[in-house]
Amino acid sequence: MPRADLIVYNIGRLLTFSDTPLGRVNWNRAVILSDAGVAVRDGVIVEVGSSAWIRSRYDARDAIDASGRLVTPGLIDIHTHPLFYGSRADELEMKLLGYSYGEILARGGGIYRTVEATRRASDRELLDRLLSTFDVMLEGGTTTVEVKTGYGLDPGEEWRHLRLLGEAASRTRIGLVRTLLAHVPPRDGDRGVYVEEMARLASRAGAEGAAEYIDVFCDKGAFTVEESRAILLAGLRAGLRARLHADQLSYIGCSLLAGELSIDSVEHLENMPPSNAGVLARAGSVAGLLPTSIMAMMQKERPPVDALRSAGVPIALGSDYNANNMTPLVQTSVQVAPYILGLTQLEALAGATYVAARSLGLGDRGRIRPGMRGDLALWSVEDPREIGYVWGLNLVEAVVVGGVVVKRRVGC
Ligand SMILES: [Zn+2]
Repeated sequence: MPRADLIVYNIGRLLTFSDTPLGRVNWNRAVILSDAGVAVRDGVIVEVGSSAWIRSRYDARDAIDASGRLVTPGLIDIHTHPLFYGSRADELEMKLLGYSYGEILARGGGIYRTVEATRRASDRELLDRLLSTFDVMLEGGTTTVEVKTGYGLDPGEEWRHLRLLGEAASRTRIGLVRTLLAHVPPRDGDRGVYVEEMARLASRAGAEGAAEYIDVFCDKGAFTVEESRAILLAGLRAGLRARLHADQLSYIGCSLLAGELSIDSVEHLENMPPSNAGVLARAGSVAGLLPTSIMAMMQKERPPVDALRSAGVPIALGSDYNANNMTPLVQTSVQVAPYILGLTQLEALAGATYVAARSLGLGDRGRIRPGMRGDLALWSVEDPREIGYVWGLNLVEAVVVGGVVVKRRVGC
């Protein structure tokens, strides 16, 4: 009898996706197996089959009885800024009173306030906060998360944040993808010098293996297209891969950078002209959409989802967890994506599983099939279309990362 570290059986519906990530994901594109089972050994899925077959075939050290409920791949969050300290809860009232972001900044609020609080926090304080954020994410079914620096600004402080992300990676079960982010230019000092410093930092991060990605916030008030290009190029030349904050607050041509540089994922896109969808499609870039960020920013604009669909651009989802958007669960993004972006529930689930894996260049997860990492989420519902129909609740009951059960509701 072959050995397994874990089997999951009595899965009412097992949802995964086929190799065709383009366009609208509907019931025909989704792969749904009924009465299924999964076996995991040494962190990797070794077999997917009928529940009875998996139960009788394996000598398993641990087992989860899914009791007829839904199992999906573990969720993947493509976009977070979790390394920060302090609260800006009081700014919400100012926003509601009609103060602009610039006015809040002028009153000592906004990103520079978070930067100050983060600078003052010790390594220990930042690590503790980061690790408890990862615990919350795991509870919500997130098994891999992209994590950015960006609240350091000063190159030395940004390097400290990269070091802390590296330390955190060895102390959590959640899979981490580390990104060096050029967030905004510092308030004082020479922009040109700062861009050069960030480009040098990107080279160092690539050379020393301190990050997997380089990212730039390209927008009015952040970095220009030219500055973004210089920083991305430095990272790409040093072996990092690239992602980009583009066309969020205004349109200055940022998403066009996908046409000239190799950018795995172009994200936000609330102000992208629909005609740029073709540029992303030709470049093979994923569109990373962040519905809860639209809520937190109280934005009226929406990414051009129909144009992305018809151009065949795969759509991934992220939480955009940051000091101004305090939701650490990509599950929440999946739940609200139908309402804010007009995605179907299955498009949303695809966006936080296999399309997300593609956005992060991870070929070993995001789907449930032999050879993939044993990352699974067991849900309290039987039909995947309940996710999004039911919202505002954590619907995940059990979570498996690399074959290890990290959350388990009593009784499963
Ligand atoms: Zn962001």
